[in-house]
Amino acid sequence: MRQLRLPGGGDLPVLGQGTWGMGERRSDRTTEIEALRRGLDLGVGLIDTAEMYGNGGAEEVVGEAIAGRRDEVFLVSKVFPHNASRRGAVEACERSLRRLNTDHIDLYLLHWRGGTPLAETLEAFEQLRADGRIGRFGVSNFDPDDMRELWEHELGRESVTDQVLYNLTRRGVEYDLLPWCGEHGLAVMAYSPIEQGRLLGDSVLKQVAQRHSATPAQVAIAWVLATEGVCAIPKAATAEHVEQNHAALEIRLSDEDLADLDARFPAPGRAVPLEIL
Ligand code: NDP
Repeated sequence: MRQLRLPGGGDLPVLGQGTWGMGERRSDRTTEIEALRRGLDLGVGLIDTAEMYGNGGAEEVVGEAIAGRRDEVFLVSKVFPHNASRRGAVEACERSLRRLNTDHIDLYLLHWRGGTPLAETLEAFEQLRADGRIGRFGVSNFDPDDMRELWEHELGRESVTDQVLYNLTRRGVEYDLLPWCGEHGLAVMAYSPIEQGRLLGDSVLKQVAQRHSATPAQVAIAWVLATEGVCAIPKAATAEHVEQNHAALEIRLSDEDLADLDARFPAPGRAVPLEIL
């Protein structure tokens, strides 16, 4: 699979698997684990989770799915802002590691900006990295002002990603955040690339999909992946969806496709506040 180069070295697969909504119902557990494992079989080696999802339940599902296959996975998890103090983040990470049943997380993110001073969170991240509990760290839902503030901290400049909402209907980040991350060499992780399913009925998207004998979800993912420096982490709780999302890697959108999509979902002409789900 194509990889994005991370600042300081290392690679991030361009396609991953999200897990928001997993680990909430016992009855869905087997299907969710099967879906994640199917992704691993296909080489989709990035899994995104968070202590928030299912109150830790999603991390447990991931832990079960990757048991015996840890080497195949680039594991991303996130700390709640209210746990992101100097001591709180270290303790939260230890709890996540227990649920994930592993000894390290590859990339650990501050889920969104909260009241804790950034310096404290960064110190905790640095300690976790020194102790080998995390490989790298980054942020999520940071707008360009937050990123500039992060960059005022020496440790902040070691962040490797900003994970943000990005899809055809949420293009605001193209105006300022994506260029900023590009200039500073950061990878952008696009969450909700198919707008949690709300995009799928769109007639223009359907039309473009037909040209490729593909589904609207696949085109929505291919469109995100066509942007330099961006990876997509769609969540799919069935093996069938995982297979379709993996196949989206093969779709090359033509100039005509891109023009039709631009006309239907215009690029931003000015700065807009960062959208968050
Ligand atoms: P997505 O845009 O990934 O949409 C998920 C929905 O799309 C699910 O209902 C899923 O159904 C459906 N779907 C997936 N694949 C297909 C397909 N091929 N055809 C039709 N439907 C499909 O939304 P998410 O909000 O889940 O975002 C993805 C991930 O990003 C999250 O799971 C999470 O890991 C991360 N995230 C991070 C946030 C942050 O603040 N940092 C915020 C939001 C998300 P089904 O489950 O039945 O397969």
